[in-house]
Amino acid sequence: MNNPTVEESGLAGGVAIVTGGSRGIGRAIVHLLAAAGMEVVFTYRENAEAASAVVSALPDSHITAEPVDVRNSAACNTLTEKVYDRTGRIDLLVNNAGVIRDNLLAMLEDDDIRTVLETNITGTMNMSRAVIPHMMAKRRGKIINISSVSGERGGRGQTNYAASKGAINAFTRALAVELASRNITVNAVAPGVIETEMSRPVRELAGDIVKSKILLRRIGQPEDIAHAVWFLASHYADYITGQILNVDGGFKLE
Ligand code: NDP
Repeated sequence: MNNPTVEESGLAGGVAIVTGGSRGIGRAIVHLLAAAGMEVVFTYRENAEAASAVVSALPDSHITAEPVDVRNSAACNTLTEKVYDRTGRIDLLVNNAGVIRDNLLAMLEDDDIRTVLETNITGTMNMSRAVIPHMMAKRRGKIINISSVSGERGGRGQTNYAASKGAINAFTRALAVELASRNITVNAVAPGVIETEMSRPVRELAGDIVKSKILLRRIGQPEDIAHAVWFLASHYADYITGQILNVDGGFKLE
């Protein structure tokens, strides 16, 4: 059995794929994993400028950006094979890419429903399907899905998003059952309100109301989520699977 010390997370030398790493929470995850010594390949959809800024921010680390839309399963497979052919291993997948299209259900367009479900849940399934055979062959691996507090406590105007995140929670538990015998753990981190582009409208419209619902009375930072991902990816979490870890400052608890 490994006996990790505080200095040895077990991450150094491993290979991680992080979806949606060009901005926000994904960027913080990419940087923390790379700083821990992992080789990190991250995907983004269209913001190439932001993606290259993520790479150049840590020049001495191994970070690569790939324009892969997670809704495209063939593209997810191609990326995975490319990473595996080059490195011979995939230790960690972080399914972080996600979108929001808030509106009352009766006002949602078909595309608002389709885009949110296809990105958040189908994209998570696409990338997971791609990496699992490689993890199974090595009998080790970790998959971490970025869910949301909305998966359990959706707000008004969030039916499509809440449904996608509730599906991620159910997917996380079911996939943990499937993969436990292969020594692959599957967990989720459920952020509360985090300071990124995605949450800007709600923070600008109702920042004080939102903070009043958070026990710690502050909006979270992307690094708050990255630290939880680092923990779940590390040796320290080897005995944790099928769990949804809320990182939300105590959201809607009183
Ligand atoms: P941002 O909007 O800041 O960033 C989203 C990232 O996902 C970008 O890198 C974007 O790429 C990428 N992305 C979007 N669609 C696709 C796609 N189809 N294929 C590949 N990449 C894609 O979001 P956050 O950082 O705020 O959110 C990250 C995750 O955290 C999401 O799953 C979100 O649901 C979840 N979350 C966020 C919360 C918050 O308050 N911010 C709260 C709870 C959960 P590009 O730059 O090219 O657009």
